[in-house]
Amino acid sequence: MTEERSLNFLEEIIEQDLQSGKHQQIVTRFPPEPNGYLHIGHASSICLNFGLTQRYPGYTNLRFDDTNPTTEETEYVDSIKQDVRWLGFEWKHERYASDYFDTLFNYACKLIDRGLAYVDDLTPEEIAAQKGTPTQPGVDSPYRSRTIEENRDLFLRMKAGEFPDGARTLRAKIDMTHLNMLMRDPILYRIKHAHHHRTGDKWCIYPMYDFAHGQSDSIENITHSICTLEFVPHRELYDWLIKKLEIYPSHQYEFARRNINYTVTSKRKLLQLVQEGHVNGWDDPRMSTISGLRRRGYTPESIREFCSRIGVAKRENLVDVGLLEFCVREHLNKIALRRMVVADPLLITLTNHSGEVEWLNSENNPESETAGNRQIPFSNQLFVERSDFMEVPPKKFFRLAPGQMVRLKSAYIIRCEEVIKDDRGEVIELKCTYFPESKSGSDTSGLSVKGTLHWVSRAQAVPVELRLYDRLFSVEDPTDSEADFKSFLNPESLQVVKSAYAEPALAEATLTDRFQFLRQGYFVLDKDSTPEKLVFNKTVGLKDAWAKEVKKG
Ligand code: ATP
Ligand code: MG
Repeated sequence: MTEERSLNFLEEIIEQDLQSGKHQQIVTRFPPEPNGYLHIGHASSICLNFGLTQRYPGYTNLRFDDTNPTTEETEYVDSIKQDVRWLGFEWKHERYASDYFDTLFNYACKLIDRGLAYVDDLTPEEIAAQKGTPTQPGVDSPYRSRTIEENRDLFLRMKAGEFPDGARTLRAKIDMTHLNMLMRDPILYRIKHAHHHRTGDKWCIYPMYDFAHGQSDSIENITHSICTLEFVPHRELYDWLIKKLEIYPSHQYEFARRNINYTVTSKRKLLQLVQEGHVNGWDDPRMSTISGLRRRGYTPESIREFCSRIGVAKRENLVDVGLLEFCVREHLNKIALRRMVVADPLLITLTNHSGEVEWLNSENNPESETAGNRQIPFSNQLFVERSDFMEVPPKKFFRLAPGQMVRLKSAYIIRCEEVIKDDRGEVIELKCTYFPESKSGSDTSGLSVKGTLHWVSRAQAVPVELRLYDRLFSVEDPTDSEADFKSFLNPESLQVVKSAYAEPALAEATLTDRFQFLRQGYFVLDKDSTPEKLVFNKTVGLKDAWAKEVKKG
């Protein structure tokens, strides 16, 4: 599916590293914080990290960055593993930053012993106030010149739980006048008496991101540590810590975050949508989460293709969700089973048909030679789409109207003879005739019609629910304003069709099948289905508006 393309900047770096002999193999990692479900932005990072070690010798670790005890949950760990696997990737080692808490503690002691870290009694707020600004140097803490012995003693007592939360921190001793604010004696450890999802109550001091991330990379011999652009200023500290600790020199490389329009890609914001009930859980099919996309009917292939097409960039931009839809439509066209479903039924009675059921043959997928056929029942009472009939049609309306002929897909040509209305004047039935010699595949009728309609036979029809989705937000970038992003939620993002009618073959649908409902779009069975009521989610429509736009340039 992926076409040949030129190397991205990371591939160029890696090819050089392999050629020069700097590395024999490359080791990358995908390092999620388990504080939410993965979203489409993470998919980019996953495809990048795992993709590199598929292309070049080496492997990728899955590392849970679980240094923050209060927000992390096992539910998130499990969902992250499921999503990475579903996308088609397998990690070499499953690791947790918390696996390294002992090592990290020893590293901290090493810095103290070398006079490169000190215990500060200032509160985090006081520390922030003394940091200075990009144009103003910071101020040394009064505790900066403590002796090594005193620092060691206090640090051990911090670990032993002698002090309350926030009472003391461990800080690197670098330079309070450094041009890079992150180098002004950054906090390495803070006190937090909190239960951790893996280490339980063993620790009451926890390392800060900057003191855990690079060291974890180093412990795992990560050769190329890839992160997003907001970490560019952190690289100096990353390198400083590795150098002073004299540990394996991992290197950090940055690429632009990938965000798509009409949605949000931030776990914190997605969590708000879930908690405040704006959506039905993390896997709501409108969500930008991988689990939401999966439930919506996206395929791993289509998401990987999307990530490959957007590639890696050095500059942030908002990617058009139309490209994602284009990728899934392209894949589903190849694999989806064709089925007929009438969303808004209008009854048709064939006055010249005996009522005996005839089973017609129809291709499962004309795009695939191996997809085979299915049988569709045809009889004297059928449903067609209400919108496929007009009593007073405009010119070029090639569907049903009084006296007009259409072909029923895979079946016969019919002609509308009479329109039946109820007391209120509403059309409730069409009396039609059919042409027995016009059967699809063996048509000898000599009739020619322009319109072909989808339909289902009434007696065998299976009632189903359809869930149709629109953009979750009504503006391209809901976070690009002062207003609460939730004020831009699209009130019409979900439309439910309670009683649509499906051809009987759909009664056997499973959660992994993909369908094209003729003339309606691509659909997938939803987990809310019961034997009494099947529920289908619309993945995407049939129209290929995005590709046309792109061709136009
Ligand atoms: P969020 O704001 O959604 O919590 P995060 O960056 O804090 O995102 P992490 O769990 O720390 O989430 O991310 C794991 C990895 O995925 C990191 O390497 C991060 O850089 C990458 N990542 C997260 N969001 C995106 C995105 N939108 N585009 C590309 N990579 C991303
Ligand atoms: Mg984060």
